[in-house]
Amino acid sequence: MHNINALKELLQEPKEVMITTHHKPDADALGSSLGLAGYLKKKGHRVTVITPSDYPSFLNWMEGNDDVIVYSEKNDALVQRIISESQVIFCLDFNNLARINEMGEYIRGAKGTKVLVDHHLQPENFADLDYANTSAAATAEIVYELIKAMGDKDLIDAGIGEALYAGIMTDTGSFRHPSTSQNVHLIIADLLQIGVRTSDVHRLIYDSSSELRLRFLGYALKDKLVVLPEFRTAYISITADELKAYDSKTGDTEGLVNYALSIEGIAFAALIIDRSQAVKMSFRSVGSFSANEFARAHFNGGGHKNAAGGMSLDTLEATVAKFESLLPEYKEQLLSAIDNNL
Ligand code: 5GP
Ligand code: MN
Repeated sequence: MHNINALKELLQEPKEVMITTHHKPDADALGSSLGLAGYLKKKGHRVTVITPSDYPSFLNWMEGNDDVIVYSEKNDALVQRIISESQVIFCLDFNNLARINEMGEYIRGAKGTKVLVDHHLQPENFADLDYANTSAAATAEIVYELIKAMGDKDLIDAGIGEALYAGIMTDTGSFRHPSTSQNVHLIIADLLQIGVRTSDVHRLIYDSSSELRLRFLGYALKDKLVVLPEFRTAYISITADELKAYDSKTGDTEGLVNYALSIEGIAFAALIIDRSQAVKMSFRSVGSFSANEFARAHFNGGGHKNAAGGMSLDTLEATVAKFESLLPEYKEQLLSAIDNNL
């Protein structure tokens, strides 16, 4: 992790800044990006936020959302130009350029100073300035700390604060994961002080489902959940046709994997979805079992110890079969993952 003085020096004069985050941004990815963008604009920089793909509509309320550029083949030339003209390129909430698709190689070749702000495990070494902290609960927490260390805490207003709050709230599972440190609660106390509407943010993110999304959840839990108590594992697999039947939108499957993990005694949960171009996987674990190591070793992915993702170019059926066939070799780890002494 670099000293804050390096960032102070870099941002001393107004600069052309771009901020990007991972494919299918979640609330931490978008919230940390828009929170940082709001701050840097107040400091006089010209800031553009570019996401490598679209993101759920339940994030559209964030301040600065209307100015976000969503990469597509159609605006490829514009995005390439912005990347090549940026003096500073912030990479938020991911640590591996493969996570941002086509934009990864454009950024790798760009001449601007690359600044990594992230909390995932095992970063790829591509940044010039590194503000990664794997013990942070959220990238939004690191952004808050960076603004504070720059001596600019007073510039955090309700709009910036609500974007950062969204990132911290969602990445801590609404303040229940072990990552919810004392520092997290102190930050939230500060955000309340400046007028962040915490309850509204929670409602906007979690209580904005369409009727069809809720019926899809019911279907997935009733008909698609597979429970393997002998491996303390539960998973849900979803076909492309099922996504279509429920008119599934970006973000509609978010959180589904957590239901599989909420069964008593289950230590490992997976959500396996046929996204047509590839099969996308979400992994969650409790206790000592590392979802990150599992995703990394078998599904070209990674993330955090207890929350990771991966992908497969096999069919959905073959991916599910591979997933199930791997479980016996993890049996001991899975059976001992949960410490029940509490
Ligand atoms: P989710 O299951 O919510 O999509 O992702 C869980 C965590 O794993 C997030 O922190 C996310 O950034 C990370 N993640 C998801 N998919 C991938 C992937 O394909 N590769 C890597 N390295 N990380 C991923
Ligand atoms: Mn995050």
